[in-house]
Amino acid sequence: VFQTPEFVRPVDCPVMYMEPCIDITAEKNKLLSPKEVKKYLKEIKGDHRNRPVDPDQRFFLCVSRYDPWKGQKQVIKAFESLMEKYPDVDLYFVGSFATDDPEGVKYYKEIMKLAEENPRIHLFKNLSNFQVNAMQTKAEAVLQVSTREGFGLTATEASWKGTPVIVSNRGGLKVQIKDGIDGYVVDPENVEEIAKAMEGVLNNPLRAREMARHARKKVEEKFALTSVE
Ligand code: UDP
Repeated sequence: VFQTPEFVRPVDCPVMYMEPCIDITAEKNKLLSPKEVKKYLKEIKGDHRNRPVDPDQRFFLCVSRYDPWKGQKQVIKAFESLMEKYPDVDLYFVGSFATDDPEGVKYYKEIMKLAEENPRIHLFKNLSNFQVNAMQTKAEAVLQVSTREGFGLTATEASWKGTPVIVSNRGGLKVQIKDGIDGYVVDPENVEEIAKAMEGVLNNPLRAREMARHARKKVEEKFALTSVE
């Protein structure tokens, strides 16, 4: 059983494919009221500098393992190219890595170094499912600009919450999100394109939310546990 037709390889048995889905009743995806979002954001202990979260701060968000395929460095470059123009929007990374994954630890340190130099970039780790949910709900947009990706559940989760998404044209992300219809689809190697999509969200929030509504409907129909045929 493969998750998208793109990944099907010749095998000596019948082949099926089935896309992953999210549990919309789980803590990660339960729809939260604005009051609950504030409560969970305030509960977060702090970013990598131990600064507490301001529940009213606007931010772009990446939720991913620290892994070179997940595109965090390109997002930092894109953010830095427009941060002066948008002084009230920060960049948040919610991440995790397996301690037995030396490459993950090394990559985290590299991202940490980049974040050290920029006080408007905040790293968070070990957040609870409700806290991740609150972050995904509050974000101006969730970015998942992976250079390689299986399905990209972070895009599914954000879309379910009605949050605009900016994704790369890789793996399952392009199955979920059609450019200009469900969100922004970009080339993950093209920093300018990522920045342009981020500006699109900030300059035309109504359009971004309209696309997010479209993506949400798609999750409801195709990528939720309750929608599996
Ligand atoms: N995730 C999380 N906390 C983190 C980082 C990731 O809960 O700090 C979750 C995220 O919400 C998603 C999953 O981990 O449900 C990542 O799935 P995805 O398909 O995006 O990527 P994978 O890690 O499987 O390559």
